[in-house]
This record gives sequence, C-alpha cells and structure tokens, in this order.
Amino acid sequence: MKISRISVYQVDLPLEYPYWLSGGRLKFECLDATLVKIETDEGHVGWGEGTPWGHTYVPAHGPGIRAGIETMAPFIMGLDPRRVLNVERAMDLALPGHLYAKSPIDMACWDIAGQSAGVPIADLMGGGSRTPKPIASSVGAKTVEETREVMDRYRARGYIAHSVKIGGDVQRDIARIRDVEEHRSENEIILYDCNRGWTRWQALQVMQATTDLCVTFEQPCETLDDIAAIRPLHSAAVSVDETLVTLQDGARIARDGLAEVFGIKLNRVGGLTKAARLRDIALAHGIDIFVMATGGSVVADTEALHLSATIPDANIRAVWACQDMLTVDIADGRGPRNIDGHLHLPESPGLGVHPDEAALGRPVAVYTA
Ligand code: MG
Repeated sequence: MKISRISVYQVDLPLEYPYWLSGGRLKFECLDATLVKIETDEGHVGWGEGTPWGHTYVPAHGPGIRAGIETMAPFIMGLDPRRVLNVERAMDLALPGHLYAKSPIDMACWDIAGQSAGVPIADLMGGGSRTPKPIASSVGAKTVEETREVMDRYRARGYIAHSVKIGGDVQRDIARIRDVEEHRSENEIILYDCNRGWTRWQALQVMQATTDLCVTFEQPCETLDDIAAIRPLHSAAVSVDETLVTLQDGARIARDGLAEVFGIKLNRVGGLTKAARLRDIALAHGIDIFVMATGGSVVADTEALHLSATIPDANIRAVWACQDMLTVDIADGRGPRNIDGHLHLPESPGLGVHPDEAALGRPVAVYTA
C-alpha cells in the first residue's frame, strides 16, 4: 500500500463568541483549519486536520501547515501509510521541527492504518477504553460574574470539567478563583489556565494567596525555566501544556518534577505518534493527562479522543470539544458529539469520522505520485 495522492483544504472555522486569553491579552474570533485527505494506490482514504488556536497562541501558523505539507509531500509520497514511524521519520528528515505541520499527515496515516486493520485507531494503538470522557469547557478570561455565567451555561449542557482562563490582573484572578471554588460541585474537575500570562512574581502572588484551596494551575508562566524557578516557592499543583512540545520537554518536566499534569495537544506535539510517547513518559512518572485538539472541528476532537482512550481511566482528566465553540460543522453532525458533557469513542474502523467534502470547497493544493 502506497500513498498516491495528498489533497489539502483550507477552511475558516468562526467561533460562536469572541474569545480572550490571558486577561484579554489575546483575542480569537476565527480559526484557520487545514484538512488533509490522503489516498493510497489501493483505494484507501484517510483524513487529518491541523487547526492552530490562531496565530498568536503558540508558534503554529495555519498557512505554515500548508507550506510545510508542500515541502514534505514529495518525501512521503509512495510510503506505506500504515508504517506511521516511517512516515514520521521521512517528515522529520524533510522538515526538522514544525511539528504542527506534521500532525494532520500523521492523523490521516493512522486513519488509513485503522481502516485497513478494521479497528478504531485507539484499539490499533494497543487498546481503547470505552469509558466516556468528560469534556472540559473553555471559559475565556472574564469578570467574576461573567465566569459564573459561562460556567453555568456549560453545566446546563452536562459539563463537569472546566478550564477557567485566568492571568493578567492578580487581584481579579484571586477573586475569580475564590468565587469558582465556592460555587463548584464536588464532582467537578477544574483547572485554572493562565496560558503563560503571569510573570514569576504575579504567579507566586496568586498561588500563595490560594494555597488553602489546593487548586491546579496550567502554564502559569512563559517558559519551563520560569515554572522551575518558582516551583520551590509554592505548593500548588501545576499542569504544563504550551511548553510541552517535544519528547525532550516531557522528559525534563518528568525528571525535574515540574508538573503533576501534562496537557497534551495533538497538533502542537506533532500528532498521535509523538503524543503517545509523551503519554508514556507521563504514565511512567505518575503524571495525569489532559488530551485535547489544539483547536478545530470534530475531526481534530476525535483524534484527541482516540489518544485519551489509550490512557488508563484513572490518569485521564478530561478531553475537549472545540467543535462546540464553532458556528460551522464540516462533518454534518457525524462523529463523537457532546452527550451530557462527555465524548464516546467511535466504534468504526480508523478515525471514525470524515469531513463532508462539499463543506470544504475545492482543495488548495493536490500532490500526486
Ligand atoms: Mg492550556
């Protein structure tokens, strides 16, 4: 079986509500999605998606995905997509770094491998848990009252996991955390996500002022050096996501004890193949995991769901459904959807959901053998 054709589509995915990170520092209104269709000489079709959370969130760029695929396409053409490690090595040789450009190709290859084996990707990766996974909300930086409002809107839809975006104003952050904790239910999973928005000094003020609440902070500062520097000065649990990119990052965080939680975002780390190694580092060091798409449609959410299903139930905290924040649906209601705040693993072979090609328009690029 050989890769014989790669078609690339660009789609705008508008957000239902404008979204702010880090106390309003970064605003997002529309995501630039790249959908990739890989076909083989034996008639298999696999799909992948790469949708960065805008251009300002992390070093990932919508047009950069398309440019990266143009560079890598000649090097993966003719390879067997079921041999995902061979495809991975070919991409890494053709274009060092640029992991976000590789993830949609990796996803499409896993999709074909699963279809060809007749099993869902999670089972092909070694065995998927069927326990429905709680979807984390994404509560943009707001006032105390607005935070309550948005969380209640999610709760009405069954959500028990919440990623509350903080960062910016120290006193307001402390007030919002105290208010959320006061109103939380016992079974809720809550993460306070700073998205690198604090300096070391700001992080310490909030962390020390909320010690009694025993809450978890995600990505409190810009770099791993910052997170390491303040580590001995607070007692809060830490999740690292934006500075967890490479296997070396994962190894450092585990070895130096910098976090209790890994936030693995598939597009950022380069796809399922590379993410599975980060998962194993986490599990080997007693580190829990959130698995998410970086953004995007149900196609990207489903990839993350497959990886989450390969993690023991006790170690996976939550997944994400970015699809719920969009005004367009490129899969016409198919694939895993929010059922009472949870996503259920699809049972069909491969990824388990493909986009509706009519919703994608014409491909912006097609590469052939
Ligand atoms: Mg985060």
